[in-house]
Amino acid sequence: MAVFQPTEIFKHITDIPLSFFVEHDIKAVILDVDNTLTSHNNPVPAEGVLQWLKQLKNCGFEVAILSNNSRKRVAPFAKKLGLDYVSRACKPLTFGVTRACKKYSLPPQQVALIGDQIFTDIMGGNLKGVCTVLVEPYELEQGWFFRLKRKLEKPVLRKYRRLSGKP
Ligand SMILES: [Mg+2]
Repeated sequence: MAVFQPTEIFKHITDIPLSFFVEHDIKAVILDVDNTLTSHNNPVPAEGVLQWLKQLKNCGFEVAILSNNSRKRVAPFAKKLGLDYVSRACKPLTFGVTRACKKYSLPPQQVALIGDQIFTDIMGGNLKGVCTVLVEPYELEQGWFFRLKRKLEKPVLRKYRRLSGKP
């Protein structure tokens, strides 16, 4: 189903070139935290993330965090990165993405949502009509719920690869 299909897949967030956002006419970039900017609950951003963000901001893109994790987890991380944030976003519900579009006065087509999970990040972004970018998780999570979600993601990823012709 199209609602599960990302616009594009990259290995890490730092692999997304700025030209990708320019080509898609993106003005604001909304970021998931866990397994997108670093591993789950890790307070330290992954290698290259700070530099990548700096480039993005220097080029005039609006950047904010949208996480399903708690304020306790997200607030200090966002502060470290100098970014506004929404915690407990309940993705795939779309209110956080809607709030970002309103805040920056942008139509959904000019906003990109980047995350590591198809059934939260990608689905939430697609339901709102923003550009969606899937990244590979830095580290697979523990727990049956995460394992189930990762298993259910596999056929969606296979379909993406088949349609896009990418490996
Ligand atoms: Mg995540």
